[in-house]
Amino acid sequence: MTNTTRKFWNPMVHPGMPASHNTVIVKGDGNYVQNKEGDWLVDGVGGLWNVNVGHNRKEVKEAITAQLDELEYFQIFDGISHPRAEELSSLLIEMLQPEDMAKVMFSSGGSDAVETALKLARQYWKAVGEAQRYKFISLKQGYHGVHFGGASVNGNTVFRTNYEPMLPGCIHIDTPWLYRNPWNCEDPEELGRLAAAQLEAEIIFQGPETVAAFIAEPVQGAGGVIVPPANYWPLIREVCDKYGVLLIADEVVTGFGRSGNMFGVRGWSVAADIQCFAKGINSGYIPLGATVVNQRVAQGIESCQNFSGAVMHGYTYSGHPVACAAALASLQIVQDENLPENAAVQGASLKEQLQSALSEFSAVGEVRGKGLMIAIDLVKDKATREPIDPMDGYANAIAAVALREGAIVRPVGTKIILSPPLTLTEKEVGILVNALRK
Ligand code: PLP
Repeated sequence: MTNTTRKFWNPMVHPGMPASHNTVIVKGDGNYVQNKEGDWLVDGVGGLWNVNVGHNRKEVKEAITAQLDELEYFQIFDGISHPRAEELSSLLIEMLQPEDMAKVMFSSGGSDAVETALKLARQYWKAVGEAQRYKFISLKQGYHGVHFGGASVNGNTVFRTNYEPMLPGCIHIDTPWLYRNPWNCEDPEELGRLAAAQLEAEIIFQGPETVAAFIAEPVQGAGGVIVPPANYWPLIREVCDKYGVLLIADEVVTGFGRSGNMFGVRGWSVAADIQCFAKGINSGYIPLGATVVNQRVAQGIESCQNFSGAVMHGYTYSGHPVACAAALASLQIVQDENLPENAAVQGASLKEQLQSALSEFSAVGEVRGKGLMIAIDLVKDKATREPIDPMDGYANAIAAVALREGAIVRPVGTKIILSPPLTLTEKEVGILVNALRK
């Protein structure tokens, strides 16, 4: 059972369910973490999809301590700035050059980054004189954090039911998921077309003049690592353009290499109007989020001559200098070590080895993924693809065995999810595969 002596709540853990990870992590180094019993474990979850450059990196720690010596904190409201916020925003815009991004709004994490994106989308439409565009369309199974806006566009009801009523005007449509979709479509191209056509139909049904934005993860993460067909994102961009709808890419997980490309949507040569970042932006060493908008959105908002042109949004910790310093050091490593490429190579190897090592098990419906985002889909019946009952503790039991075998993996409902550091090597791929096979 879960640890009832703790004086904090473990987020998203049901107190009645057996805990897979009743463990205390005390140390980290590279691709490993150590528990209080002294065992070194492969970090198969990369902290929480975020420790992309690995634990205990000297470069990041030195950047943090140097920044603490120089300036531990100052705000960036009131027209004030500091060097790290300037350097990091310039670097982000430079890294996002092919996507033509223009302005950054900093925050403290992924939920903040999404909330910022939704508010900026609404502000844009007011600024350009179309205030009636307030609706958001998103995908079933999608995850966009826990604030009211993000939870409202989340595609899984568990994140909403305890907190309803949510934001009005949030509509959820089907995910282009090859393994389980309402069309029973097994052809990726056809599925991409069907899903994009559903977006178009929904925009028309709602009235294009009322739709502010479509938001989605380039590859769905927490919903079960759902990789869309290759034609999906280009078709979605076309539909959004046809009706003027803004396209928001929630890159909180996929940003900075995890999906095997530097940015998730870049994997399909698509540019979104707004991108949300957190997690891998500084490998989780200090909380940080960033929402980046393109020229269209920035110019639209700035074109407002009265005070409505001000972005009435921002956090005390927007652009925290220590978090920005950690990001500059971490992104240097991501670029120098070409970690998106390593994620693609080791991710493909991990996925293939798992597919072959687990194929004989009746409960393994599918192993899927892109880059170092991998899910094992657990089923009652391989033929019908009926998922296991998430309350029976099966995924947790697998994770508990993996832990004993030297690897931390993440049970999420009916799936086991892997999101290790992007510095993963063949050796750790082997440990993960063996632990999961056990
Ligand atoms: N968006 C996506 C795609 C995420 O996966 C997450 C967290 O996992 C969030 C937003 C929320 O980020 P945070 O937990 O940092 O608030």
